[in-house]
Amino acid sequence: MNKQQIVLAARPKGMPDASTFRFEDLQLPRLQSGDVLVEPTYFSVDPYMRGRMNDAKSYVPPFVVGEPLAGGAVGTVIDSQSEGFAPGDLVTGTLPWATQSVVPGTALKKLDPSLAPASYYLGILGMPGLTAYFGLLDIGKPKAGETVVVSGAAGAVGIIVGQIAKIQGCRVVGIAGSDDKVTLLQDQFGFDAVVNYKTAPDLTKAIADACPDGVDVYFDNVGGAVSDAVIENLNFHARIPLCGQIALYNTTDVPTGPRIQPMLLTRSVLMQGFIIGNYKDRFGEGVRQLAAWVREGKLQYTETTLTGFDKLPDAMLGLFSGQNTGKMIVEV
Ligand code: NDP
Repeated sequence: MNKQQIVLAARPKGMPDASTFRFEDLQLPRLQSGDVLVEPTYFSVDPYMRGRMNDAKSYVPPFVVGEPLAGGAVGTVIDSQSEGFAPGDLVTGTLPWATQSVVPGTALKKLDPSLAPASYYLGILGMPGLTAYFGLLDIGKPKAGETVVVSGAAGAVGIIVGQIAKIQGCRVVGIAGSDDKVTLLQDQFGFDAVVNYKTAPDLTKAIADACPDGVDVYFDNVGGAVSDAVIENLNFHARIPLCGQIALYNTTDVPTGPRIQPMLLTRSVLMQGFIIGNYKDRFGEGVRQLAAWVREGKLQYTETTLTGFDKLPDAMLGLFSGQNTGKMIVEV
């Protein structure tokens, strides 16, 4: 079969669709000194990739129209001109959306498949796990007995946030978009209560009912109307790790909502945005702790896996309609 890549065909306005992506045959360059030929086994699709489709200044550069998209991946080394990598090695790194790639060895890290399934390095032992760990513990600073609310609760980050908050001895309330997700989070992931934001007739009241002592920490993965409703329920000295705003990633106008500053002011609330890259010097600590919790059975994980390289666009779009539970993965 020909090698293939998926390029950004055009910058989407609003929600991306099939016309955003184009499949192309691919000719690979010869390996130069320092290069590695990698064949991806698993690709991660992540909400932040939607931001890279816009021509906008951000903490990562935009994708280039006509060039391949790229994202977190796990793959196998096929050939190597880089010291430290040999054929057969399992590696992880940011790879172009291609069935094979030639990349510098410096862009790759070897991974240890004995610790956890290889795809977990894209989820619980990768960027989403670290995001949950540092965002919750470093900014949220949950204390035993407090109430932690997490939106996007059944997603890659949220499902870990909830469990780490339980490990800290908190009451944990999730917000998710289907009854199946509500049941799963309560029955298998130890959440104390979960609110379905799509069906609750009055979301602010539903959150108040689920949080009889108010909200001490709100881990915000989604923004928009969900966050407006949580913010109504904050306690004095609440903390908000501002992680993601997926509800707003496809908006074409300037989103407006309640003016929240008076609430933050009068309740002495701390709200802090963060990008996981801020913590790169502490990734080792995070991965060690997450892996230990996984080994001890304190952290469970789940993935939604689509099979086939051609499923990458569907997987990416599926994030915006809630098709994933846990990490969205494409197995090539
Ligand atoms: P998820 O696995 O949670 O996938 C996205 C989920 O968001 C969907 O499954 C869906 O679940 C929910 N969702 C989609 N659209 C909306 C909407 N309009 N309103 C409310 N919920 C919606 O993604 P991740 O766990 O990887 O990421 C979660 C958030 O964290 C994202 O906003 C992401 O950008 C951010 N993030 C930030 C990082 C950082 O460094 N700050 C690093 C990693 C992620 P449902 O069925 O419940 O609607």
